[in-house]
Order: sequence, then C-alpha cells, then structure tokens
Amino acid sequence: MAGFNHLFIPGPTNIPEQVRQAMNLPMEDMRAPNFPEFTKPLFEDIKRVFKNETGRVFIYPSSGTGAWEAAIENVLAPGDRVLMSRFGQFSLLWADMAERFGLDVDLIDCEWGTGVPLELYAERLAADTSHRIKAVFATHNETATGVTSDVAGVRAALDAAKHPALLFVDGVSSIGSIDFRQQEWGVDCAVSGSQKGFMLPAGLGFLSVSPKALAAARSGGHRRCFFSFEDMIKANDVGYFPYTPATQLLRGLRASLDLIADEGLEAIFIRHRRLAEGVRSAVNAWGLRLCAKTPKWHSDTVSAIHVPDGINSDEVVKCAYYRYQTSLGVGLNKVAGKVFRIGHLGWLNDVMVCGALSAVEMALIDCGVRIQSGSGVGAAVDYFQRSRASTVARAA
Ligand SMILES: *Cc1c(COP(=O)(O)O)cnc(C)c1O
Repeated sequence: MAGFNHLFIPGPTNIPEQVRQAMNLPMEDMRAPNFPEFTKPLFEDIKRVFKNETGRVFIYPSSGTGAWEAAIENVLAPGDRVLMSRFGQFSLLWADMAERFGLDVDLIDCEWGTGVPLELYAERLAADTSHRIKAVFATHNETATGVTSDVAGVRAALDAAKHPALLFVDGVSSIGSIDFRQQEWGVDCAVSGSQKGFMLPAGLGFLSVSPKALAAARSGGHRRCFFSFEDMIKANDVGYFPYTPATQLLRGLRASLDLIADEGLEAIFIRHRRLAEGVRSAVNAWGLRLCAKTPKWHSDTVSAIHVPDGINSDEVVKCAYYRYQTSLGVGLNKVAGKVFRIGHLGWLNDVMVCGALSAVEMALIDCGVRIQSGSGVGAAVDYFQRSRASTVARAA
C-alpha cells in the first residue's frame, strides 16, 4: 500500500531520521584504539537521562528484560525478601522473574488500572522492623494498562519507615518521556530499554545503578556471567565492553542522546503530557473509558482504552492494521480483548497523534462501536490547537 505505515504501539517507537542515519554506517572495530573516545562520553551522557550523577549506567546488548535480570542477579541473593506489586503484564512478568530467581517475594496484587499501592508499601515497611526486606520494586509506568505510579511516594514511604531497603524501578516506558529523577528519589536500580523513550530499535538494555546498588553487588548477589557488573565495570572503565557491543545501536544512541539534550528533558516531558492530554480528550469525546481508574494513574506515554461490552478490542486493532496501516497495541493477559492501546511516546507530534486518533476512530466505527465520526479527532484538534495557541502567546 502507498504511504507510510503508522506505528502507535508503546514500543518500539518511531525512530528519528537522524538516529536512523547515524546507524547506517559500515561495521567498525570495537577494539579500535580510539573507540573509548566515543564510548566514554556516551556512558556519561546517558546518566543525564536517568538523572543519576553519582552512579553509573550499564548498557547491555539485550532488551529491557535483560536489564531487569541484571539488576536482580547482581544486587540480590537467592532467598532475599523483596516487596513487589502486580497490576499489569509488565509488573507481573518482573514478579515472575523474581520468583524464578528464588527471591522471597511479598507480592501485593492490585486491581489492573491502578498502580503501586503506596499505603500498603508504607504499612509493610513500617512493620518490617528487623529489615528483612532487601528491596522494594516499583513499575513506574505499567505499559499494559497505561498507569503511572508515584516513585517519589515509594521513596517517601521508605524514608518514613527509616527502612534501608534498595529501591528498584522499571522505567522502560517512562524514562526519557515522563519525569524521572533517580538521584533525588533515591532509586538504586533503574531499568530501561532502547526501543521506547530512547527512540532506537530494540537491542539495548539500560541499567542505571546507584553507589549503594554497586556496593550491594560487590558483597553478594547470584552467580552471574553475561550481566556481571564487575566484568562490565572493568571493561567500561577503559571504554570497552566485555563482549562484542552492538556498535550500530551505540551510534544510534549517541544521536538520540543528542536529540534529547537539544530538546531538553523538561520540554520532552511537557510534550508527552500534551500528546497524552490530546488522546485523553478524544477518549472522553468518544464516551469510552481508560483502563487507568482515576486521573492520578494517567500515563503520558500510553493509553489503554476499554471498548464497550460486546466488542472485541483485538478486532479493532486488526482493522486499524489492515484497513488503515496503523499499528495499535493489543490488550495483554487479563485485559486481552477488552482494551486496545495507543502508544504516544518517543519521536512524535500533535499531527501524528491526530493521525493515530483518526485511524482509531475509523476502526472503532468499522467494528460497530457507536461513536460520531470526527468526535474524538475533533476534541484532540481542539485541545492541540488551543494549547499550542497559548504556548505561542506565552512565547510572544
Ligand atoms: C517494554 C517493557 C518491558 C520489557 O522490555 P523488553 O525490551 O521488551 O524486554 C518491561 N517493562 C515495561 C514497563 C515495558 O514497557
């Protein structure tokens, strides 16, 4: 079919032209004497996206799941007690991984559409006077349900209980798109991946660690090899990797970090908020509801939208794909068939989002959802136009 295909899944996301071109280069020598001139600034600059000044970031040739695993096996030991919560497919999978690694998981199940239960975390931590809990886990942005949790609130719960547990955060679909402050929030392990806010292909797993996590890794942990902090540190400190790095992806990362620095993290967060608000105004105009139960859970990177009873959301996704060349996210696990997802993170703007909303609208109508054509798109256009006009007025 003619024209672009439209990618509106919550990762992989759209790749900027500069990033794509930066990766289009001949294979290079990863042991070249001047390779460190390229890698050392890269290790420094990626720390800025995490707002991690005193720790370091490991760049693994893996997806985000590998960085999840690296955090657990380096920093925690089998039998360690950890506090986790489950409210969507990604928080579910991380808890499953923790169990497979033999951690003693205190798992709090929450309704899908909500997020990290701060009150329950505070209770558990206050009750744990002997400090058996070694780490507290939080999924910052649950990509399956479009729910963002309050990581600063988890830090506050730890501090209020004067609890020394480490804080692990899954920021795969938030870091670089939604406000995240590793150092300020005392996050010890922050996980991300290349194919979401970093606007790259899949293939790099990022793990940003605090000095406290590095110290914990030195004194314990699981057996480890591929993900070993120690091996990585030894090689990274002199600008290399313990095995063949994905050099093209690293060149792409250089370009994406430059784009992020040019736009500015705070401006990127504001852009994501605006794009999400545009989507939410469309959902509202359609008379549909988000999976996220209340506004405090609203995600600025992905919206999971309930279809009315009697409609299968998989059909909506298929219809958008085949008829309108637009990829949307399907519902996962508990919400399969019930929600579809619009990924609105990474390299995109108002008009791109309007395009996605028009495809959603046509697919919904095709699948028998009774909405007025133009209603959602119109609401988004209104929102974008008015908020843009006020930005211009402020700038003038
Ligand atoms: C995408 C995602 C993951 C998994 O990352 P992969 O790169 O697919 O391994 C984990 N957590 C969240 C919140 C995600 O959005």
